[in-house]
Amino acid sequence: MVRTIHIHNSLTRKKEEFKPIHEGQVGLYVCGPTVYNDVHLGNVRTFMSFDIMYRYLLHSGYKVRYVRNITDVGHLLDDGEDRISRGARLEQLEPMEVVQKYTNRFHAMMDRFNTLRPSIEPRATGHILEQIEMVQAILDKGFAYEKNGSVYFDTIKFAQEKGNYGKLSGRVIEDLQTATRDDLKNQSEKNHPSDFAIWMKADQSHIMKWNSPWSEGFPGWHLECSAMSTKYLGPTFDIHGGGNDLKFPHHENEVAQNVAACSCQPANYWIHTNMLLMNGKKMSKSDGNTISPEELFSGDSPHVSKGYDPMVVKFFMLQTHYSSTLDLSDDALQAAEKGFKKLMDAYKHLQNLDEATATGSTDLDLEINKGIQAAYAAMDDDFSTPKALAQLFELTTKINSLKDGHIKLNELSPEVLDNLKKTMKVFIFDIFGLTNIEDTGSRHLNGVMELIIDLRQSARVNKDWVTADKIRDTLQALNIQLKDGAEGTSWTIN
Ligand code: AMP
Ligand code: ZN
Repeated sequence: MVRTIHIHNSLTRKKEEFKPIHEGQVGLYVCGPTVYNDVHLGNVRTFMSFDIMYRYLLHSGYKVRYVRNITDVGHLLDDGEDRISRGARLEQLEPMEVVQKYTNRFHAMMDRFNTLRPSIEPRATGHILEQIEMVQAILDKGFAYEKNGSVYFDTIKFAQEKGNYGKLSGRVIEDLQTATRDDLKNQSEKNHPSDFAIWMKADQSHIMKWNSPWSEGFPGWHLECSAMSTKYLGPTFDIHGGGNDLKFPHHENEVAQNVAACSCQPANYWIHTNMLLMNGKKMSKSDGNTISPEELFSGDSPHVSKGYDPMVVKFFMLQTHYSSTLDLSDDALQAAEKGFKKLMDAYKHLQNLDEATATGSTDLDLEINKGIQAAYAAMDDDFSTPKALAQLFELTTKINSLKDGHIKLNELSPEVLDNLKKTMKVFIFDIFGLTNIEDTGSRHLNGVMELIIDLRQSARVNKDWVTADKIRDTLQALNIQLKDGAEGTSWTIN
């Protein structure tokens, strides 16, 4: 038996009972990062929100296929340059080196937040054939046209015949007289300003390009998600997610492409997460209004008074529903640090309460069971992590009273104590994916090792082999092994 969950569906703008296409199974697609530089905390918030949903669906008994793509082509900057090509140019690397480097770093960062890896993580460049086939299908259905080697989606024809361009984002086609960001350069080729490129002819200077029936070129950004979700989840699947800044044009165009190619809606439920703000403004790299996760961990930023553990940052994010904006502030992080500690301390105390002493059965049993049910009900209600946390804190108060003897353990039955232990464990570790904080000792050691590795790297750059070797040999004598790789140097204690 799986749990019944209600989801706020951005497509219908209503909270609806979640009914998967196949009983007990969920197909979930989430737009992944564009890997031309490191993720910022706003990106992390979105991926973490979907991680919690994924974890909760799994915990609720669903078999989930979770697909989160890696965007490594076609996502253009305002000046028309591909983000990956820009990264390659700036770092003097092969485009695929940039992709690998930032994919690895993205994984490592999400690991620090203890998020689960998706079931499939497809790359756009690995699915050029599928994208070409989809362009052809849209052309065959008459919803696209070719101009000088580029192919454009015909939004006007689509709106006239399918009547729903703009449904997801609530835009009206007549208002879409401005160009979408991905194809400004080719504005003059389009029949209508709201049309968008699904295949772009590459100019001479463009590095990432492929042969196609129309030109040597590359796919439009929106196309990859349509093609890859169809390939791995089918033409219609259960849930599609992403940050709400992707609603338009990215998701609107995805819907249009899928409907045009196969006359079916891609996803039955769309979930959009809200933005992480800093100083009241959306956190965004292009505006410089950003703090990197590393800066937050180390405290090396004017925005924070000290460093915060990834688990404190995660706890801070869990306190707000994914659909609300969240403003990052030092005060809120300090409060989250206290809250997280209180929860983990209560969990520790709970382990010391002995079922053998819990011999009674009073109203306390009922109260605790009610709290447990309410925590689940909160998660069933559109994954409300703040309400679930509030319930865990009610239970925390009871645990502390039991520990301090204000409530006697013999007022509780062994079954309810056991249930309380299981529930706290499941929520803290399985559903929220929190972990025990790194102790101060290992945090210090991590910092010292980072410094030593930096010093060794500088010595090597300066061809000071004596110092570089001395560092390596001394560490080796302490059983600390350095390993040099494409991502830099890592270390292990043998
Ligand atoms: P990108 O790599 O820019 O495509 O973004 C990856 C994901 O992060 C997308 O789902 C975005 O909607 C999301 N995102 C970007 N900025 C923020 C922010 N400030 N807060 C929350 N999510 C964000
Ligand atoms: Zn996408």
